[in-house]
Amino acid sequence: MTALTYRYVALTDTGLRRSANQDSGYASDRLLVIADGMGGAAAGDLASSEAMHIIRQLDRDLDVDALSALEDSVTRANARLGELIAADPAVEGMGTTLEAMLWDGEKFAVAHLGDSRAYRLRAGELKQISTDHTFVQSLVDEGKISPAEARVHPHRSLLLRAMLGRDDNAADLNWLQPMLGDRYLLCSDGLTDMVPDDIIRSSMTSETIDLAATELVRLALEAGGYDNVTVVIAEFVEQGTEPDDNLSSADGQPQLVGAAASQARPRTGDGASGSDPAMSSSTYDPEELRYAPRPPSRLRWLRWAAVVAVLVMILAAGGAWAYSWSQKQYFVAAQDGKVAIFKGVQADIPGITLQHVEQMTDLELDTLPDFRRQQVEAGIEATSKADALETVDELDQFAIKPTPTPTPTKKPTPTKTSTASNALWRP
Ligand code: CA
Repeated sequence: MTALTYRYVALTDTGLRRSANQDSGYASDRLLVIADGMGGAAAGDLASSEAMHIIRQLDRDLDVDALSALEDSVTRANARLGELIAADPAVEGMGTTLEAMLWDGEKFAVAHLGDSRAYRLRAGELKQISTDHTFVQSLVDEGKISPAEARVHPHRSLLLRAMLGRDDNAADLNWLQPMLGDRYLLCSDGLTDMVPDDIIRSSMTSETIDLAATELVRLALEAGGYDNVTVVIAEFVEQGTEPDDNLSSADGQPQLVGAAASQARPRTGDGASGSDPAMSSSTYDPEELRYAPRPPSRLRWLRWAAVVAVLVMILAAGGAWAYSWSQKQYFVAAQDGKVAIFKGVQADIPGITLQHVEQMTDLELDTLPDFRRQQVEAGIEATSKADALETVDELDQFAIKPTPTPTPTKKPTPTKTSTASNALWRP
């Protein structure tokens, strides 16, 4: 049998309707993963990135067989979500899907949980090799509706299983035997809800997997881009095949994209995580810095390119147009210990200030959970002032308010929390 290896690519985009990316994607020469977070604007990205940080620790020499290692890793990721939820009632209900393939040099160990999908392209035929853990899939299995009806069913996004930090949602675990020339696609529902299988099939036959990934993301955006869209693609070649310098995997580096690539790590939780190198008391995972140079999305990269271009133009010509562009941008960041909406860009040229506070809020930085506070300190981009206000509203929902005077109309619910005694969480 020909010894095989594979090329890989991971690509994500926030989409056109969501303000944050709750998907995480990872691709390396040993591991392919997608995690699509859920549970509200603020918690989905946390679930997705935490699960990803644990699963991608599998990208190393293993001392047990790949399927056992993968199963153990899924269990630990699930336990980690359970810990975070127990420590912070604000993230109750968060969870993530998981699609993971771990290469042992001959075959893949596969874990599947939720409605992210795995497809195989072999000899021009596309086959879905995962079975959605969804309500509509159960109706299809029972012969009550057709796959075509499932696509437009009003409850098509209802999941029957996901990684929720509980012990009643097991992943499907299987071995998978790839063949030379096979291409595998792992993707979030942001692709499959927007793009039908026959179009996915033709995109997957693109000349290279990098082109296929770009094309699939483009198609999802063109179809409306209602959700975050993430694709991870692998293509099997003979071992010893020269790397193709035109492909993103030619450098041999792992590719981490989406929520897990952009989120700071929360400090909450200990216990089982104590033995976990990536769960040390340090807020930032040093590995993140290693992977961070890869842009999390094309659009974000374009935005930064625009900011750099503006700086260059202002420097070169004092360009009034460029300055005026920069003053139409918004972001949310910290000012005097509070959350503020800024107008401008998060960069300055000596002598020229490109940002000013557009609107202060009375949301105290100290009242935010660590994870959220770090996001604000780093600055959160907004597409408009309305978008910035929406971000502030989201943050406000996670603020720990000081013990309020109880009002007769709405009784605050006291809950246990690890971050402050006598603190109350807003419902
Ligand atoms: Ca999704």
